[in-house]
Amino acid sequence: MTIAIDSTTTLKNGVEMPRFGLGVYKSEAGEEVETAVKTAIQTGYRMIDTASFYKNEESVGKAIRESGVSRDDLFITTKVWNDEQGYDETKEAFERSRSRLGLEVIDLYLIHWPVTETFEDTWRAMETLYEEGKVRAIGVSNFHKQHIETLMQTCRVEPMVNQVELHPWLSQKDLHHYCQTKGIQIEAWSPLARGGKFGDPFMKEIAGRHGKTEAQVILRWMLQKEIVTIPKSVTVSRIQENADLFDFDLSSEEVSAIDQLDANERIGKNPDYIDELTFE
Ligand code: NAD
Repeated sequence: MTIAIDSTTTLKNGVEMPRFGLGVYKSEAGEEVETAVKTAIQTGYRMIDTASFYKNEESVGKAIRESGVSRDDLFITTKVWNDEQGYDETKEAFERSRSRLGLEVIDLYLIHWPVTETFEDTWRAMETLYEEGKVRAIGVSNFHKQHIETLMQTCRVEPMVNQVELHPWLSQKDLHHYCQTKGIQIEAWSPLARGGKFGDPFMKEIAGRHGKTEAQVILRWMLQKEIVTIPKSVTVSRIQENADLFDFDLSSEEVSAIDQLDANERIGKNPDYIDELTFE
């Protein structure tokens, strides 16, 4: 299967979205995230995933400008946070994110979580931003089937992407299949399960077989399953390691064997309980 670091998937509105990028959650504003973003771009990453919640949009924007790569060759995602939702509030939140990033147009704008009282009004604002040409694509994050179905009943523009927790131990098979039937691209957050699963003997064995690391095997598994992935690291060697996965293939037997690791095991919060969740 030929996939390159700059391979893209075509979203339902025709926009080309990279299949691989850098996540910057908990990457500190200032030197830490700036170095991470610049290292990633130099390594060949073409997509950066941030959010207003991460409080590093300004630094991400600065690193993009200083990267030496043309803005048009990069794909930047940001998200509207839970306490910024609602129609007018989302439009204002968007302007704040856009100004912090220093970008005229955002490539992908996502609703971060399906906050029950507001996510439908938030979506109206996302549609307006899209129709005004301020964002090239709009989507959701942490949306389960019931949340997407609610939006689908009244939307003018259907979501193009759903970014959810996804790794071999939470493979989201049903949600992935549902999104595929609706033409919604699935994107994995915490693709490496935040490092908490490294050492699994089975994954180590597959990695050894290919002369690769467990991180590379996990990310390769995703790419072969047409899942967009955004591993996070602020360590130069890991940013490079995570991108060094375009020179090997997992066999279909290996992909199926990794599929069997699914244990519905979440490391993050469950969107089904959004009304009871608190976020720091
Ligand atoms: P991740 O699964 O990408 O894991 C990151 C951690 O794994 C790093 O901090 C590091 O400790 C370790 N790691 C990374 N590369 C490694 C390597 N090669 N070898 C060993 N250890 C390595 O976790 P994440 O940051 O939670 O998720 C990735 C991105 O997804 C985030 O940065 C963010 O952009 C996005 N995200 C979105 C949501 C959402 O609600 N939409 C939630 C969480 C994360």
